[in-house]
Amino acid sequence: MENSTNNSMVVSSDEKFCHSCGEKIKSMAEICPKCGVRQMATTTANSEEKSLLVTILLAYFLGSFGGHNFYIDRTTKGVLSVVFFMTCVPAILSLLDILSMTRLNIQALNTKYNQKFTDCEKGVKTLFFVLSVIALIAIPIIILSYGILFIVAIVSGAFSSYV
Ligand SMILES: [Zn+2]
Repeated sequence: MENSTNNSMVVSSDEKFCHSCGEKIKSMAEICPKCGVRQMATTTANSEEKSLLVTILLAYFLGSFGGHNFYIDRTTKGVLSVVFFMTCVPAILSLLDILSMTRLNIQALNTKYNQKFTDCEKGVKTLFFVLSVIALIAIPIIILSYGILFIVAIVSGAFSSYV
């Protein structure tokens, strides 16, 4: 009688390891019976590895213009970012992406973004987490400041036309 737990490091041709918990499961399984995590599609398993560092850098410096979205194959989102970059929404969404990319573990990220990421230094993650939090606080302040300047300019312009 075959016991699957005895030779747990050996997989037969119809078996694989769960990418989340590492349990040996059927290769055709879409969801791991042990941890319940959805297994990546075969196309994703064959796709090339993406650098998490490059993704974070693109999101931080070029997020307004879709940056990382083009890199991780979210082309539609990338194009929408380019079109709506003036609204600051793509920048904010990119910063939120960085928050999850710097906090989640690599398996969770692979599932969330449907990618095969190569992990990066913890220090780099911490740095960009902090930078993103600062930027998320700064962006509304900057928008508000320009809004106030704009109103002041209009009001003072209206006053000067009466003089
Ligand atoms: Zn599992």
